[in-house]
Amino acid sequence: MDPQTAVDRLKDLDRQIRVLLHAQSVLNWDRETQMPEAAVEERAEQISAMEGIIHGRITSEEIGALLQDAGASEENPSGEKTLVSLDRAFLRRLHRLYRRHTKLPSDLVTDTAKTASRAQSVWRAAREESEFEAFAPHLKRLLELRVETADRLGYEEHPYDALLDEFEPWTTTRFVSQLFGELRQSLVPLVKEIGSARQGENPLVGRRFPRDGQEAFGRFVLEHMGYEFTRGRLDVSAHPFTDKLGRDDVRVTTRYNEEYLGTSLFGTIHEGGHALYEQGFPKSIKELILGEGASMGIHESQSRLWENFIGRSRSFWRYFYPKLVDQFPDQLHDISLDDFYRAINRVEPSFIRVEADEVTYNLHIILRFNLEKRLVAGELTVEDLPEAWREESKELLGIAPKKDADGVLQDVHWSFGAFGYFPSYALGNLYAAQFYASLRAAVGDLDEQLGNGDLSPVLSWLRSNVHAPGSTLTPTELCEEVTGSSLDAGHFTSYLREKYAGIYELR
Ligand code: ZN
Repeated sequence: MDPQTAVDRLKDLDRQIRVLLHAQSVLNWDRETQMPEAAVEERAEQISAMEGIIHGRITSEEIGALLQDAGASEENPSGEKTLVSLDRAFLRRLHRLYRRHTKLPSDLVTDTAKTASRAQSVWRAAREESEFEAFAPHLKRLLELRVETADRLGYEEHPYDALLDEFEPWTTTRFVSQLFGELRQSLVPLVKEIGSARQGENPLVGRRFPRDGQEAFGRFVLEHMGYEFTRGRLDVSAHPFTDKLGRDDVRVTTRYNEEYLGTSLFGTIHEGGHALYEQGFPKSIKELILGEGASMGIHESQSRLWENFIGRSRSFWRYFYPKLVDQFPDQLHDISLDDFYRAINRVEPSFIRVEADEVTYNLHIILRFNLEKRLVAGELTVEDLPEAWREESKELLGIAPKKDADGVLQDVHWSFGAFGYFPSYALGNLYAAQFYASLRAAVGDLDEQLGNGDLSPVLSWLRSNVHAPGSTLTPTELCEEVTGSSLDAGHFTSYLREKYAGIYELR
């Protein structure tokens, strides 16, 4: 078969795979938002049945043969040079997916899935009791399975490369280690400096914000961001997420805490950022594997850019704070814009990652990255993990948790074997800072526009620069294309320094 015909046929097959993936998302979304408790077991069977079907499609002999006909191979994943660049980008992504699925024997995949589902329920109980010993044997087994996965997938330098690549395609451990090293050098002293500055009481604490008002305000902000409710929904789930149930069906969830406004407020903006990315892929690619985020880190850059760089900025709140006061007059009438701005930007080292502020957040990630790397390389045993956690925490954040529930047991990720996932969060912050610097340079009067409640310059810049390419580019290529240089931690650290020097009156 000639290469072009092979590519066209592959696109048909890929479209069908997307349809199945979206159908699987319907099952997942329903499980998290609507499903009655009694359906848990059957739903797990339904989802795993879909997984089996999708895996079968991806690894089909037909796809293997067509990739060959198109000239795509391990050495040359983009296929024949005569193909147009969009087709070559398509082949590169599809070949990568095919390769990852075919390299792993099905018993390794099912063994990992079973071990993970058991480990997750053990982890939940262990966290409740703060008892690491109960969880340790399961974690040990998962680690073995993931190391085997890395060996099967292959890597050049570090076994962690193969695991990281699942979330950050074509990104290496060496590159991340170097970035995180620089980040650490600026963040640790900044946190210390802020720690010795004076910080008053948080005026938002001790006030009650009824749920209905929070939801109304969340919808109001999402609409201003440009989220299309005709192609999405906002619902409630225990852990907020964004899911694509179809090319024109991208849903977000949030959760409400009446004692703490920030949970839903920033959670909704965060998920809105993810959803705008998914709603923003152009027609030419949105039916294909190319209509996906370039990586988890790039995805996270979109949510963080909206949540922190826009949603925690003073300009944004110049317009939105009076609206929020209208929504909650009794709760907010005596809090000024300045005090509110300081309250939503408080910095304080704490144990729990998901509650961490913008400044300390990445230190939580660096801690996990350091430990994961050592675990995967066999330099640290699971038995020694809690102690290693406390040591790292002391060094990075200046505090060490007394209970494992506040330390090594706090996150769900390891309980399903997702080693290599955490770096995406911090990479997302770094990409966001670098994109934000380019956005500011491109939109000269950004602060003024934000102050007028006009968020459209942000979305249109993201649409044409970050969303339009989908996953035709690798994260590294995308960053270079959009900002003119490769990822550099300096954008993030200078953004933090400037912002927090103002808030905390640092030198
Ligand atoms: Zn996110």
